[in-house]
Amino acid sequence: MAKILIVEDEKAINDLIKFNLELVGHTCSQVFDGESGLEEALKFQYDLIILDVMLPKYSGFEMMKYIEGTPVIFVTAKSTAQDRIKGFRLGADDYITKPFDIVELVERVKAVLRRTKADAKCFAFDDIRIEFDNRRVYKAGKEVSLKPREFDLLEVLVNNRNLALSRERLLQLVWEYDFEGDTRTVDVHIQRIRQKLGISDRIQTVYKTGYRFEI
Ligand code: CA
Repeated sequence: MAKILIVEDEKAINDLIKFNLELVGHTCSQVFDGESGLEEALKFQYDLIILDVMLPKYSGFEMMKYIEGTPVIFVTAKSTAQDRIKGFRLGADDYITKPFDIVELVERVKAVLRRTKADAKCFAFDDIRIEFDNRRVYKAGKEVSLKPREFDLLEVLVNNRNLALSRERLLQLVWEYDFEGDTRTVDVHIQRIRQKLGISDRIQTVYKTGYRFEI
């Protein structure tokens, strides 16, 4: 997993980001102003920087002039189109505005890391091996055939491991739209994944909420 620097002066937000990124297996360092952020970014090789814009000492935008080669995701209250354009022109890989959804942030981190190749192309646990690139899953070395949505659902659960995801959220993330209809669709797919892979103990039902992949 990745080594991530969080530059954010609001401690509660910084802690929230760190907590959730570490839950899914990343290692995080925290700094709370632009000057320490720049020092840290230039001294160590990070896979990704989560960068606030309005910071004491140097702003996130100013810092971008000195950061080279490390992917950056801005997480900021500056939400106008102009700000976003500025962020992207300075070389940001993504731009998230506050208030943000923590699950979405985790997903976007995953997407940026995948693009920048710092992240794993496969994930293995117990006797299961998931290859994200070619969308194949193996159990004890034998390929298990998953339907496209089953694979997508498994991927979302694994990427957000140890986080409880509501059925509604899973519908949004896997079926990629605001699903007004039946959340039982999720239950049916979860059941099939559990059966096909024999991982009922890994995919926990979270009472009155949804599911959590535990590892
Ligand atoms: Ca700030």
